[in-house]
Amino acid sequence: MRLVLLGPPGSGKGTQATRLKEELRIPHISTGDLLRAEVAAGTELGKQAKAVMDAGNLVSDDILLGMLEARLAQADVANGFILDGYPRNVAQANALGELLGRLDQPLDAIVQLDVPTELLVERIAGRAKEQGRADDNPESVRQRLQVYNDSTAPVIDFYAAKGTLARVDGVGALDEVLARILVAIKR
Ligand code: AMP
Repeated sequence: MRLVLLGPPGSGKGTQATRLKEELRIPHISTGDLLRAEVAAGTELGKQAKAVMDAGNLVSDDILLGMLEARLAQADVANGFILDGYPRNVAQANALGELLGRLDQPLDAIVQLDVPTELLVERIAGRAKEQGRADDNPESVRQRLQVYNDSTAPVIDFYAAKGTLARVDGVGALDEVLARILVAIKR
């Protein structure tokens, strides 16, 4: 199963991906986690990405594609993956299609987690207390929601037009939302 999880910041993509990983026994690839690992390791890429991430903006498409290509070359994705945080714009959606086409590994499902904005802000504030993410401060959160609306929301239309998108209500208990996702991907 090759699955893309779409949704605004705070929609629960990361949390659901962690559960789906256990359920489906395939790796969870979070581009945010990959970037945070680069920042933590102090690599050149991490140094470039940090300020952009802290401000709530998107890191360059080239950096993301290179990172994703390297990750998809690893052996553990042979049976599929859950992609969380990519694509974030239509150019990335096209790049992903091309990359997976080249690897002869087309996507099986794309799930959009729908959560109203008021709830997103509340959830991110809760996460900020728990995890202390540098980009969970109010200004970055506002910017991330803006970037989502401007750049990422069009990705929904991109996949909807292809007829491959499933929309799932992301409001509810973790188990409920997980069950809805599993129904949407017919598992
Ligand atoms: P996330 O953990 O998915 O919320 O990502 C945290 C931050 O990493 C984002 O706000 C972006 O700055 C950066 N990032 C993650 N994925 C991408 C992507 N696909 N394209 C560009 N920037 C990304």
